[in-house]
Amino acid sequence: MKSITIRDVKVFVTAPHGINLVVVKVETSEPELFGYGCATFTWRYKAVVTAVEEYLRPFLIGRSVHDIEDIWQSMMGSSYWRNGPVLNNALSGVDEALWDIKGKLAGMPVYSLLGGKAREGIALYRHADGNSIEEVEEKIHKYMEEGFRYIRVHMGTYGGNFDGSIQKMQHPENAPAGAYYQTRTYMQSVIRLFDRVRTDIGWNLEIMHDIHERLSLADTLAFTKEMEQFKPFFIEDALRPDQMTYFKYLREQTTVPLAMGELFTNPLEWKTLIQNQWIDFIRCHLSDIGGITPAKKLAAFAEAYQVRTAWHGPNDLSPIGMAAQMHLDLNCSNFGIQEFAGFNEAEEEVFPGCPQVRNGYAYLNDTPGIGVGFDEKAAKKYPAVENVDYSWMFSRLEDGTAVRP
Ligand code: MG
Repeated sequence: MKSITIRDVKVFVTAPHGINLVVVKVETSEPELFGYGCATFTWRYKAVVTAVEEYLRPFLIGRSVHDIEDIWQSMMGSSYWRNGPVLNNALSGVDEALWDIKGKLAGMPVYSLLGGKAREGIALYRHADGNSIEEVEEKIHKYMEEGFRYIRVHMGTYGGNFDGSIQKMQHPENAPAGAYYQTRTYMQSVIRLFDRVRTDIGWNLEIMHDIHERLSLADTLAFTKEMEQFKPFFIEDALRPDQMTYFKYLREQTTVPLAMGELFTNPLEWKTLIQNQWIDFIRCHLSDIGGITPAKKLAAFAEAYQVRTAWHGPNDLSPIGMAAQMHLDLNCSNFGIQEFAGFNEAEEEVFPGCPQVRNGYAYLNDTPGIGVGFDEKAAKKYPAVENVDYSWMFSRLEDGTAVRP
């Protein structure tokens, strides 16, 4: 095999959707051979850029591009302390770029390198929310007309809002600003919403809901038991990552399928959940666990326990990252569903070769590698944005207590 080495590693930040995306480019000793990977940790993107430029770049220059496994393992060990989202995203940018290069060298799309297709298209789920039941149902109808059959259904944002419940809350004096919610109102509003959706739209549709770790164990238990009657496809993020063993009680007491994992960064977080079959879907964010290399192992591990994949697919993920996980979706026999937030025109311009969506399914182009490029000139038109409004993340209970996912 011809010796090909890493000549340079570059990092780009672009925001074609108003959200900072981080892209890593690995250049090789072959002038026309390079790869791109997604390293998007949008809330701490400058830390990821520094990790790649200051620590991984000098570590990688001169290494063989062929040995992804050795590079991934040694990058992971190179900081001694590891498994955090900043360093995992930095690793992911390099890892996905190396898989892109390997595919280009082989003349094959990545899914083919992984063993080929297990299916022809990737079933997607979309997110429908609104401030009234009518608004949510309107969005569901629109998605159904476009061919989507899996829809995550929400009232307001995470934690919900129903009939102006936020305005009716009774805060103490000097309560700080934040995304307030009241647990009982939230639970009741979702149950009313699901009831109406099943009555008005029917059962020829898979619906799901994301608790986004807003409830206590007792409330989650009561809520999921009530949700059983609507047969959701799954309930997402029922409990916080530091409450993993509580999934045992959920599993024992409800029949609702459970999906968990978008906040995971460490194999210890998913190992027990999967081995005990306490969840039905594992939904890590690929770049937050370190890219394609750890994700293919996680998927294989999950397959042994009949846990299916539902990788995290929000807007704070570049189309390169979305395509990277879609190669796994095509290849893994235990694929379940893919979250999909859609691309706007600017993203399609900056990332030529974005996956295409038709009738509820996504399709990858069959070009070698990951198949999504990066137009470095077009990216400059959408520079990094500062002062992004992420107030929705600052959840507070009615009395002002901060709640974290
Ligand atoms: Mg979620």
